[in-house]
Amino acid sequence: MPELPEVETSRRSIAPWMENQDVSGVVVRQKNLRWPVAIEIEQVLPGQKIRSVRRRAKYLLIGTDAGTAILHLGMSGSLRIIDTGTPAGVHDHVDIEFGSGKALRFRDPRRFGSLLWAEDPYEHPLLRNLGPEPLEDAFNGEYLRAAARGRRVSIKQFLMNASVVVGVGNIYASESLFVASIHPKRQAGRIALRRMQLLADAIKTVLGNAIDAGGTTLRDFHSGDGEPGYFQQQLEVYGRDGEPCLRCQRMISAVVQGQRRTYYCKNCQR
Ligand SMILES: [Zn+2]
Repeated sequence: MPELPEVETSRRSIAPWMENQDVSGVVVRQKNLRWPVAIEIEQVLPGQKIRSVRRRAKYLLIGTDAGTAILHLGMSGSLRIIDTGTPAGVHDHVDIEFGSGKALRFRDPRRFGSLLWAEDPYEHPLLRNLGPEPLEDAFNGEYLRAAARGRRVSIKQFLMNASVVVGVGNIYASESLFVASIHPKRQAGRIALRRMQLLADAIKTVLGNAIDAGGTTLRDFHSGDGEPGYFQQQLEVYGRDGEPCLRCQRMISAVVQGQRRTYYCKNCQR
């Protein structure tokens, strides 16, 4: 599943091909994604100039003067820049074509992605209650400490709550807690400010490294073969149960929390 680093990597890859381009046409081959493709995508977007390609949480925001397309990759979505008219595969549901002769192609085999529209995307029901962006300055130890006050939920599940902070998915929650030496089952409300500062810094480092590495599953945006390319970044604990801790050499443990697997070192994380 694309996580925040993959979405940010996608944004950086497609934005130069899209910004300041006029939309010359839109092809919707499959309207039935997680929600129906917004009618404005076909009726309003053509003829508009793309003013910006931004990201909020895992949503890509394609801004025009008439409104903003809100694109989510869901479980299996991917984006590529293609030459307009490149034959479409069965899972290539939407093309947004530009005056340059290029097009943005949205592929989504499982169809959990979405393509919506809003005049103000930040007021859209899916976006308006989201927590802060983890890479922005407003997300820090003081914020985490205040948000966690009185909360008895585990710190791992607390971090994965999008109203607390966006974009800290299962992989990155495990990795960040390892970097900050915090036990994933510790109650969120019982973690001191100093450790919350370490945790906020760890989240920024882990996500920043993943973005630099192109995300854990980097897509190949404009290769002609149509197959997304994947590679795994170096993960310190995630998926390493039974293997030695990179810091203390003891065995990494796994536990299920909220139906998601958590990986941690019993010795290094308290
Ligand atoms: Zn260890």
